[in-house]
Amino acid sequence: MGIMKDAWDIIKDRAEWKEMQALVKKIPELEQRIAALEARSSNINSEDVCDHCGSSNLRRTGSRPNPTFKSLGVKDAVFLCDDCGKESAFIIEPSK
Ligand SMILES: [Zn+2]
Repeated sequence: MGIMKDAWDIIKDRAEWKEMQALVKKIPELEQRIAALEARSSNINSEDVCDHCGSSNLRRTGSRPNPTFKSLGVKDAVFLCDDCGKESAFIIEPSK
């Protein structure tokens, strides 16, 4: 057991170990920030804008298989633009 204790004493004095401890403490804060961001953009990513007029006034109307990746189960989220009335589709992950 002496060797294990010596090794541990060396590890816990290392700068890398202390840095890692600091990072671990940050995880709950980061998780909270991610959850808040996800809640804000549950349907529409802030960078998604209308393909036709560039408006961000999009309303999700449904989803359909992505024409290119449908064999992989990839879908497109379909949005209707409130400004020009045209349809835009954005790729989404298979789980959504
Ligand atoms: Zn539009």
